[in-house]
Amino acid sequence: MMGYLDKGIKELHELLVRKETTPLELAKEAIARAKEDTCNSFEKILEEEALEEASCLSEPEEENILWGLPYVAKDNFSTKGIETTASSDVLKGYVPLFDASVVSRLKDRKCILVAKASMDELAMGGTGTTSHIGKTYNPYDPAHERMVGGSSSGSAAAMAEGIVPFALGSDTGDSVRKPASYAGLVGMKPTWGRISRYGLFPFAPSLDHVGYFTRDVEGAAYLLEALAGHDDMDSTSSYRAVDSYSGYLGKGVAGKRFCYFREIVDSLSDLTAKEKFLASLEELRKKGAVVSEVSFGLDLLRAVYPAYMVISCAEATSNDANLDGIKFGPYYEGRTYQESMNAARTNGFSELIKRRFVIGSYCLMRENQEELFLRAQRLRHLIVDRLNGILSENDFVYLPAAPGIAPRFDESSDKLSSEYLIADNHLALGNFAGLPSLTLPLALEKGYPLGVNLMGRAFEEGELFAAAKALEDITGLSGLSVNNPKEGRL
Ligand code: GLN
Repeated sequence: MMGYLDKGIKELHELLVRKETTPLELAKEAIARAKEDTCNSFEKILEEEALEEASCLSEPEEENILWGLPYVAKDNFSTKGIETTASSDVLKGYVPLFDASVVSRLKDRKCILVAKASMDELAMGGTGTTSHIGKTYNPYDPAHERMVGGSSSGSAAAMAEGIVPFALGSDTGDSVRKPASYAGLVGMKPTWGRISRYGLFPFAPSLDHVGYFTRDVEGAAYLLEALAGHDDMDSTSSYRAVDSYSGYLGKGVAGKRFCYFREIVDSLSDLTAKEKFLASLEELRKKGAVVSEVSFGLDLLRAVYPAYMVISCAEATSNDANLDGIKFGPYYEGRTYQESMNAARTNGFSELIKRRFVIGSYCLMRENQEELFLRAQRLRHLIVDRLNGILSENDFVYLPAAPGIAPRFDESSDKLSSEYLIADNHLALGNFAGLPSLTLPLALEKGYPLGVNLMGRAFEEGELFAAAKALEDITGLSGLSVNNPKEGRL
């Protein structure tokens, strides 16, 4: 059944301003729905805190579009006084002393944090299966056989279940934009440095971004206006002025140059996904856009995933060296520091994390650095140069966000197939180059969402939202949730 929380940010704001609902009513609905969650979306539901905060809000702030809205944050954002584990046993019981900057910004805007969302452990992974509380399920599949994707799995599932109108996630390779595709959502990752990462647990800082989910492009534009901007606590955050992103929404795409990569579209084996994507190109042309096919280069595209693994695992190994069982999380007995650290790291991490630390350490060993780590950095450079070259001749790169609908848990993807190597991993291009990148729903296939992705030039988020809005008008798929299913126009 449709509820308030299946609506988008703007619509809810209008209802709040007209006093047709209240922050307390919304928080209650969010908590009630969160308690009925069947997808394992949450580490923790913050019932008491949320209801208390919401009950303090009475006079609507007309100028503040986020006033009184409930949201969830992925469990790798520090929340003062609230246990934050990044879904890892190694951080069980860790209660941060400060809020992540995005969390405090949202607090200042009177948003109500209703839950901490489950995730792939420490944000490594893309399946939503490695949280220490188990798998997160795709809300579109009542049989629980399909994944919602990760690593921002709980945030995406909570959105698709209509529990909140927006959710925070993080994106190092595709962790917001891939689950957005599987869950019928808008998933946005702005330019590297656009949103402060202070208080976001680092995974691979040269690739890490704060990202978020909304139900429509308009909501994504408003939310960036609130989250973007320099932060003294994060020296990598940009000083550039924050644009009025929502002002771009009606601009349309006439004369805008879109390109797609032939190698990726050719590799798709899901014919519906391919056909819907090609149909959207025609519609873009009808709106006056110039759409062209570009060859990125198969060798370079095939290098994205291996380079991503080397760079991200190397950075993660170094960053997560502080998870030694002494500074944070549970203490494991040992006669020496070495022994208790060994016990903490042996018992506190799942297999996937340990495998990645082994890869990272191997790539960082002095004798392997030239052959692995530095070679991956050079590849990254080549890939970024190629991408920026393409974006000097085109305004946007437009591609399917994933090779198809959300996979079943038991579908073993062939990790060496070209489809896996290029069509399943190309979103990391946006992290390599730090470019703004947004996923939105394209169509439905057998009732499951298919997503597309748009990538634009650095700090040109406004243009990206304008193009995304035009696409949203083409697909007719804004405001999706399992309680509000739609057919779509394509
Ligand atoms: N799926 C990618 C990985 O496994 C991306 C993770 C992310 O963006 N945090 O690392």
